[in-house]
Amino acid sequence: MSQTTSNRYSRQTRFAPFGPEGQAALGRATAVIVGCGALGTVQAALLARAGVGTLRLIDRDYVETSNLQRQVLYTEADAEAALPKAEAARRHLAEANSEVAVEVHISDLDAGNADELLGGAAVILDGTDNFETRMLINDFAVREGVPWIYGAAVSSYGIAMPVLPGDSACFRCVYPEAPSGAQPTCETAGVLGPVTSVIASIQAMEAIKILAGKSSDVRRKIFTADLWTGPMREIGMPPRDPECQTCGRREFVYLDNKRRAPVSLCGRNAVQIHEKKRPLNLVELAARLTGLGTIRANEFALRFDDGEHEVTVFPDGRAIIKGTTDPGVARSVYSRYLGN
Ligand SMILES: [Zn+2]
Repeated sequence: MSQTTSNRYSRQTRFAPFGPEGQAALGRATAVIVGCGALGTVQAALLARAGVGTLRLIDRDYVETSNLQRQVLYTEADAEAALPKAEAARRHLAEANSEVAVEVHISDLDAGNADELLGGAAVILDGTDNFETRMLINDFAVREGVPWIYGAAVSSYGIAMPVLPGDSACFRCVYPEAPSGAQPTCETAGVLGPVTSVIASIQAMEAIKILAGKSSDVRRKIFTADLWTGPMREIGMPPRDPECQTCGRREFVYLDNKRRAPVSLCGRNAVQIHEKKRPLNLVELAARLTGLGTIRANEFALRFDDGEHEVTVFPDGRAIIKGTTDPGVARSVYSRYLGN
């Protein structure tokens, strides 16, 4: 360990249960963060500063001004440039700790790329905003025996829970089915920065234990907190359900479902079209759209606004259509400007 390195991490190696051997293990390990929003930016900042070996960031989205209230890595300049979140995060993390290898994946985690994007992880951190993706992470984690840390937050409330395959209950043992009816979202119910920071910090703490080779110290508890009105609680995790479809019967239905429909994005008045994946030349596209609306482009994305809808197109053909929550409308806007 170099002098700089030992000085950089001296405050955490001095903590005896972690120690220099924890630091060494952390420095060899790979952590994957799915979603670089409010939870993911805090997780990424803590893990990068702690000295994780490799940090893989997966996010499909770009920075917007409304993110800045709680997504602690980003700046006004990132929003102005409409940088993809994973890339903006990489740049800021490199300024904080250049020793960490940060891999950027500007894409949506789905059944088709889960093996590639999650493979090799020592731990997976949930920074997503939807049940389907969590089920997909859970399928992969249980199948491959990789621990993951669930986290969610809305309004002033949050929850965090570790999943240790083969040891603890899995996510599906606790939530067998998707919640029914309309759920509160960050748009309808809002969300407070301290809440996402607390939940993400708890996720990062448990992840650091796992990465440092101290999995036996992971707290097998469900943590819940309402930071505005109410209590912070820890409740015991339920036992593993032997009939659980995922960890009991080992049927990985979310991983096996390779086809995905367009999805409305949580709290965004936007729909993502990702069933038309194919490489797009953004420079050519910008030329084709000239005169039809305002266009802004960088090397990662092209944003086009026709006055009614704002379309953000990525080089893999994926697009986010803002100004509607109707997949049919979004598909028609997509076809109008990008073809079929
Ligand atoms: Zn289970």
